[in-house]
Amino acid sequence: MRPDPIQRLDTTFFWDACERGEFLAQKCEPCNKLWHPPRPMCPDCHSLEKSTQNLSGKATILSWVRQVRPASFGFKESPIVILVELEEGLRMVSNLVGDEPPEIGDPVEVDFAKTSGGKAVPVFKKVAS
Ligand SMILES: [Zn+2]
Repeated sequence: MRPDPIQRLDTTFFWDACERGEFLAQKCEPCNKLWHPPRPMCPDCHSLEKSTQNLSGKATILSWVRQVRPASFGFKESPIVILVELEEGLRMVSNLVGDEPPEIGDPVEVDFAKTSGGKAVPVFKKVAS
């Protein structure tokens, strides 16, 4: 089973949202930049004033890889690892649901996979193009 996410002071809001089925990014109040992964300071203007914004969950696959051996910790077979660009312009690394290799440019949308301790992490599933 998929291991739990590592929770820290600056990431707990993100993982708690995932448990509720919400997909969030941090947003800088002074300059409106969105960022991911969570961190305490805007990467552009270094402001500490931030809020959160719901993301659409729609994304495009930029790259992917499947680890062959050994299987990733917590998995019988390693999942397909994808780099996606979200509709809002953010990029993130995640997993693709299923075993079918994707094509670069495939449209995907966020889903949430349960973890061994009852938490949830964002993964992506293919959608019709
Ligand atoms: Zn900023």
